[in-house]
Amino acid sequence: MNTSTRMLLALAAFCVACGAPSFAKSPAKVSRTYALVDGARIAAADSEPQNWMAHGRTYGEQRFSPLKQVNAGNVEKLGLAWSYATGTLRGLQATPIVVDGMMFTTGVWSVVYALDAKTGQEIWKYDPEVPREWGRYACCDAVNRGVAVWKGSVYFATLDGRLVCLDARTGGRRWEVNTIDRSKPYTITGAPRIVKDKVLIGNGGAEYGVRGYFSAYDASTGKLVWRFYTVPGNPKDGFENPELEAAAKTWNGEWWVGGGGGTVWDSMAYDPDLDTLYVGTGNGSPWARDIRSPGGGDNLFLSSILAMNPDTGRLKWHYQVTPADNWDYTATQHIILADLVIEGKTRKVLMQAPKNGFFYVLDRETGQLISADKFAPVTWASRVDLTTGRPVETPEATYSRETRLIVPAPVGAHNWQPMAYNPGTGLVYIPAMQPMGIYALSKEFQETGKYPRRDMFWNPGIDWDAFIDTALGLMEQLGGPLPPDRGYLKAWDPLQKKTVWEIEHPAFWNGGLLTTAGDLLFQGTGDGRFVAYAADTGKILWAVPTSIGIIAPPITYEVDGEQYVAVMAGYGGSGGLSGGDPRTMASGKYVNEGYVFAFKLGGKAPMPRVAEKNHLIPEQPAIDATAAQLENGKYRYMGTCMVCHGALAMSGGVVPDLRMLPPEKHAIFNEIVYDGIIHGAGMPKLSDLVSEQDVHDIHAYVISRANEDRNPPVPGVDSEK
Ligand code: CA
Repeated sequence: MNTSTRMLLALAAFCVACGAPSFAKSPAKVSRTYALVDGARIAAADSEPQNWMAHGRTYGEQRFSPLKQVNAGNVEKLGLAWSYATGTLRGLQATPIVVDGMMFTTGVWSVVYALDAKTGQEIWKYDPEVPREWGRYACCDAVNRGVAVWKGSVYFATLDGRLVCLDARTGGRRWEVNTIDRSKPYTITGAPRIVKDKVLIGNGGAEYGVRGYFSAYDASTGKLVWRFYTVPGNPKDGFENPELEAAAKTWNGEWWVGGGGGTVWDSMAYDPDLDTLYVGTGNGSPWARDIRSPGGGDNLFLSSILAMNPDTGRLKWHYQVTPADNWDYTATQHIILADLVIEGKTRKVLMQAPKNGFFYVLDRETGQLISADKFAPVTWASRVDLTTGRPVETPEATYSRETRLIVPAPVGAHNWQPMAYNPGTGLVYIPAMQPMGIYALSKEFQETGKYPRRDMFWNPGIDWDAFIDTALGLMEQLGGPLPPDRGYLKAWDPLQKKTVWEIEHPAFWNGGLLTTAGDLLFQGTGDGRFVAYAADTGKILWAVPTSIGIIAPPITYEVDGEQYVAVMAGYGGSGGLSGGDPRTMASGKYVNEGYVFAFKLGGKAPMPRVAEKNHLIPEQPAIDATAAQLENGKYRYMGTCMVCHGALAMSGGVVPDLRMLPPEKHAIFNEIVYDGIIHGAGMPKLSDLVSEQDVHDIHAYVISRANEDRNPPVPGVDSEK
């Protein structure tokens, strides 16, 4: 730590000790203020429920609002107050921040929008000009989950790893720092959090071979204060701290070659009383533990909840939800802090429903596991042993020797879409899923014992041939396409450890949640609706068709005495790009235009009209390809194209469905893929990953898939018209 960092730390500590700056009290009514938020104001967020000042509204991230002007008795009168068109066609995942009548939010390619929260009028917009070629490192769309605000500044991170500070009033840039090794495929999609004048930010990339970490930057200068790596590096280089030296004992082989993973790409929460920051870590890189750490080991701190000292960046305690992760079971899912009465005693708890399908309640002072129960169908483990705190794996969980069908799939029983906790009902609401995963260990690794080919950048150690063959075999058994995965809304009682009610959704990939003191629960859906439920019973009280799939979580706020409920609409993310069945999703039917919608009682603005898509697969050009070339094309497609354009070349409708390519795109297929001539539209140049022959073979594979689906027609795709 250098002298100036020490001085800044001392200054930060002084400011905390002397209380909040005077301007933080009672926001001025006379003239607009711009995001004059600090820790004292966020900690006292319930005293100004008109604002949504931090990612989960409060530091504890319950996503519960005390506002109740809109309530179960009048919610049917909700109407659109305003809409703002972002002009984008990909996923929108941000939680807007609203302070004193101003809304700050983010969209595709990390663009920031400042809007008048009462009218939707754009005040300013900031485009960080993310190089579009970086999109190929983004497993899960060019999305961004929002900004943080602090003392008149707006903070956000870019897909290509920069952390940026803007003037909240003008959108002018105050500072920008690079947070990553730019030679490595790191991405940032998460929202920063700000604690004690430190901006906290992690990153993603564990499907591409990176080492996870998160960092704290000084809010006023952008200087790095501390960084915590979540997995140990090569021991030869020395360990950054004793925590990592101890963690290295839980790894084997040359794990650092594949980076190890453990990326911190989403969840954080903070308890000001305990002065503890909670952080969720991601999956192993690669997924397959046989490759990542041959000889076993828990591989700390993969898939863990870390309790941190926010001043020093040192670990207080950890709890690993999925030891020896083998399935992409991240613990980056939303963390909620609450005080629950358990067996007559008030406990300060932390709750998480990570991908692995268990609902965890931990004592957040000590890290002690209180309960862990299946909130969704799970086949990889039978239960969690409360004595050891460890899951009991089933024999079906390993795929070292044979291909396995495992529930949940890598997309998880719950992904990044935030849950919500309502202290009134005592329920936690979870945007839940029931996806089935096909896991097969890389054939190359099985045969050679070596790391699988690294020229395919999306490389979790999975054998795509076996994956495809298994999927095709299942389709043959069923006599048709695989049924869509189940997506549903679940109300979970964390004390009774059971489901209270569930609502089925047509699409498996749906929106995050908001609950309010008006006994309401709001959620947008993948099939293109925005819905209000009774928080206690789950009864649908109000719904508006949006024609746009919604994945972002709603927020609520008040301006000039009127309560608004706002949400971003724009389908995307991993489930929207590749995992879904376009027949169940709005993005399969309508153009995926991006909007911010704000509703209020008696709102009269018309919902925007969204154009319908053409679903006819056009006639395909002739292409010469041998059986071996088609096979290579399929393999290359799975390794380089599938993650965005969908399995079997069937897109979820967010990025182009390659079966629908018009003749003019077929004519320049090689120029698009190999030379990157439309990289400005987000399609990266891939010449360093595939040869021109590979591109030809991929093209042949895509054409063969289109021809298969043209004749005979696939129900719901090209038979709709
Ligand atoms: Ca992952």
